[in-house]
Amino acid sequence: MEPLQALQKYFGYSEFRHEQEAIIQHILNKKDVLALMPTGGGKSLCYQLPAVLLDGLTIVISPLIALMKDQVDSLNVNGIPAAFYNSSQSTEEQIQLTTKLRNNQIKLLYLAPERLFGNESKLISFLKSLPVSLIAIDEAHCISHWGHDFRPEYLMLAGLKLEFPNIPVIALTATADKLTKKDILEKLNLKDPAIFVSSFNRANITYKVLPKKNSFNQLLDFLDDHKDDSGIIYCLSRKSTEALAADLKEEGFAAEPYHAGLEHAVKARTQEAFLRDEVKIIVATIAFGMGINKSNVRYVVHVDMPKNIEGYYQETGRAGRDGLPSDTMLLYSPGDANKLKQFAMVEDNPEQSRIMLKKLDDMVHYCQLHACRRQFLLKYFEEDFPPNCGSCDFCLTEFKHFDATLIAQKALSAVTRLKERFGTNYVIDFLRGSKSEKIREEHKQLKTYGIGAGISKIDWFRYIRELTALGYLQVTDDAYPVLKLTPKSESVLKGLEKVELVESQATEEQQPAVALPFEAGLLTELKNIRRDIALHENLPAYIILSDATLMEMATYLPQTLDELRLISGFGDVKLARYGREFLLPVKYYCTKNNLVSKIKQKVTKRERKVKTARAGNGNRSSDTAFESFTLFKSGKAVTEIAKERNLAVATIEGHLSYYIYNGAIDVLALVKEEKIPLIKDAIESYGTEKLSPLKEVLGEETSYGEIKAVIAWMRKTGAI
Ligand code: ADP
Ligand code: ZN
Repeated sequence: MEPLQALQKYFGYSEFRHEQEAIIQHILNKKDVLALMPTGGGKSLCYQLPAVLLDGLTIVISPLIALMKDQVDSLNVNGIPAAFYNSSQSTEEQIQLTTKLRNNQIKLLYLAPERLFGNESKLISFLKSLPVSLIAIDEAHCISHWGHDFRPEYLMLAGLKLEFPNIPVIALTATADKLTKKDILEKLNLKDPAIFVSSFNRANITYKVLPKKNSFNQLLDFLDDHKDDSGIIYCLSRKSTEALAADLKEEGFAAEPYHAGLEHAVKARTQEAFLRDEVKIIVATIAFGMGINKSNVRYVVHVDMPKNIEGYYQETGRAGRDGLPSDTMLLYSPGDANKLKQFAMVEDNPEQSRIMLKKLDDMVHYCQLHACRRQFLLKYFEEDFPPNCGSCDFCLTEFKHFDATLIAQKALSAVTRLKERFGTNYVIDFLRGSKSEKIREEHKQLKTYGIGAGISKIDWFRYIRELTALGYLQVTDDAYPVLKLTPKSESVLKGLEKVELVESQATEEQQPAVALPFEAGLLTELKNIRRDIALHENLPAYIILSDATLMEMATYLPQTLDELRLISGFGDVKLARYGREFLLPVKYYCTKNNLVSKIKQKVTKRERKVKTARAGNGNRSSDTAFESFTLFKSGKAVTEIAKERNLAVATIEGHLSYYIYNGAIDVLALVKEEKIPLIKDAIESYGTEKLSPLKEVLGEETSYGEIKAVIAWMRKTGAI
């Protein structure tokens, strides 16, 4: 069978991702491989598919029992015979397993390294008697003490090539800096390995760092947008995981703590409940996560700063494995950085300490960054990326003005018609023509009722906030605040004054993931069905079908088994097992709501082509910020550079402020000296979270570029 055919048949996917195809081909040609792919990139498939295609057994070395169990369950649900061998099994179970292995009834066997190479292991000679066709080493970075997750037992794998000299080995990891990569190759003794490096960009994850102020309130704000989602919150200490989980519980969240000091049974229970979506939030130390393959983790929050970028990227990477949009937030305080410094010192090992401190320093740099966070992260992993990802906090706070006179007039006339006696919520519902009973009948008769129906509630909130900030409206500070007009309102209402509002600027092509229009009611039903099946089969829900698969069903509304086959995630076995059960509610929902199948619209979106070789070939001329910098250094003005490069002035200013931050450009080159104290003052009073309030207080004379430049300079000097 061809790999592509097997991909569809066993896994229900219609195309390969990243370098999967090339990697698989190499393995089938019996070559050793090192594969570096981001979390959620689809590493498992790189050895699971060859395992199915090759005769004989594939041995998978994996560090954690939880991880093995998850993988084995997933494989079995897809109809691929897999098993693990570990100390938690009874002798009887082990004997049964041995028989199956002997009879060639198992395609993949999962093991911890110490099972294979431990002192008294008889397993190895048994395995050598079997037709082993491939050995896969998952989480291969565990072999290196430079990595963030060193496991001494992985060092035993050095004996692998001696024991199985002619069997191809594939090592896989999501994190490997140069040192770790070198370590993996050396310690495993790979023979002339092909190295595949996929882009580490996780396009569906947004990155956000906030200065830590009142972390619990900041967290609750964040969770407001994630009420029913699963998420992980990382803390530094065991004690704080417990305290925070308790606080969250009090706020009504299904949260549980997780750290290495808890009893084994408690940890197992919590983890299990999380996998089953009964516990929504895990508040954890970094002890939690490596064994977690849960694909529908929608967010990851760090309430304390992580020790290094590798760990941070790995931890944030646990969000959104299913490819759906996911959020991350880090709360940063310089105090945390100082605390971590003490941990970074390794006794009697100045070299190790130096490396750890450097890594910590990079982490602090990231937190204080005044440039695209995604670009910084990818650069850290030696990958080029343009400086404007459109989905990190920095890129999302670029502002562009637009003529909002009409919007302002609508809002102001609504306030007038409502006789300045109602609050923001009411005004917005009135503008949007809400049918709610809360809107008084007499108001529903007014001409203004519903004139703002084309604008979303969220946008209306933002516009009204801005109109208030600009002085066209005011909010009273009573117990029930109401919106009132101001002396500035009249000229707008009469059409004598234009109003400009700012809009967050994220160009379309940079939008992370496209939100598909889907049937929310149906999605809920499908989730319920999945939950019931999962309970019945005693498996986590996402192993039955991923959120992404349910989402596709609720979007494309398949009506027959053949159409269902086109939904990503339905392989032959899953289709046969669960197809009808899921099809029924879709058909019923469609009949009830007069909907038809949209499966024809399901165009297979090609994955972005990724670069293979990136290490060491950082091509600076392709680095767009650097290009702006070079032009600036050659004496060109910002507006000239913008024109020449066909980019927005704000973009160029963003580029240059990065170079102010790293010291390559003097702030005085962009801001007149006498202006600096004023701007600095404003920044100190209003913070840097949003630029618009700063611009507001500084007025016309100060540009966004100047503000950005001073912020960058203040960050550089450590003033903020
Ligand atoms: P990793 O181990 O790299 O973190 P996984 O192997 O767990 O990632 O894969 C992440 C998710 O992506 C899984 O749900 C997996 O089934 C899915 N996946 C893998 N390859 C493909 C593919 N070619 N097309 C669609 N989904 C895929
Ligand atoms: Zn960005």
